[in-house]
Amino acid sequence: MTPEQIDTIEGVRRRLAQVRQRGCVIGFVPTMGALHAGHGALIERARRESHYVVVSIFVNPIQFDRHNDYEAYTIDLRQDLESCGALGADLVFTPTREEMYPAEPAIFVEVAGLADHLCGRFRPGHFRGVATVVAKLLHIVAPDRAYFGEKDAQQLAIIQRMVVDLNLAVEIVPVPTARESDGLALSSRNKHLSGDERQIAPILFQALLVAQKRVAAGCTAAADAKETALQLLKGHPQMRVEYLEVVDAASLAPVERIGGAVRIAAAVWVGGTRLIDNVSVPE
Ligand code: AMP
Repeated sequence: MTPEQIDTIEGVRRRLAQVRQRGCVIGFVPTMGALHAGHGALIERARRESHYVVVSIFVNPIQFDRHNDYEAYTIDLRQDLESCGALGADLVFTPTREEMYPAEPAIFVEVAGLADHLCGRFRPGHFRGVATVVAKLLHIVAPDRAYFGEKDAQQLAIIQRMVVDLNLAVEIVPVPTARESDGLALSSRNKHLSGDERQIAPILFQALLVAQKRVAAGCTAAADAKETALQLLKGHPQMRVEYLEVVDAASLAPVERIGGAVRIAAAVWVGGTRLIDNVSVPE
């Protein structure tokens, strides 16, 4: 079924007031479009757990740290709407840039600490842009639950902290990373990989897995676990490691001695495409 498409904040609020009056539980999946099966996993989960599913499609200009990236972020709205329909979404919110930012924003949401590590070190302002737009979207949609992918583990942690600190009445639901059969995490950026680059891209996940295996086997020196992963990546000169870190699962700060739950996260460039991925190692 084709979902209803609304592009104004007022329109969404009006429709959702009616939906809420019927006693419906509302699930929400914020996206930037270019939908793939990773987004699909979030929408399907929301569909299973809610009476009414809202997907937003908005390419958020204030989270791009490089203007060219924003310009190059193309989406096919018609195709995305079809995917939303096939996955059972009820409403797709497609605001314009002017609708979301009628004036230069004066208020930003900064989640101190968590945003300083991993991708935050290399993408200044990125998480501030993400937290700000997600706060706005949560205010507009006011869902019971909102779904976020573990693929973007730092984003997920930042949103979870924002919801706690700002007392937002929403449950944040983490969804495991959807992968290709060879392990590559699904991402809208994968389409930029050339044939050769696509061949080697899954090595990122393999490298994280070897580090994960070492930690699970009892290795407590983060440097050793890192080295195992880096060795594998070093065999592929087309891959440039931006970072590969073993971090505390809660604070995302790098650890030296592994004593509790950790996440092993990396960003690598494959040619001109930046890929991120992560795995967790429970306590
Ligand atoms: P984006 O459209 O890239 O902003 O992503 C929208 C949501 O989809 C975020 O919560 C992402 O973490 C999630 N997502 C993207 N790729 C995947 C994936 N491969 N598996 C699970 N969730 C994903």
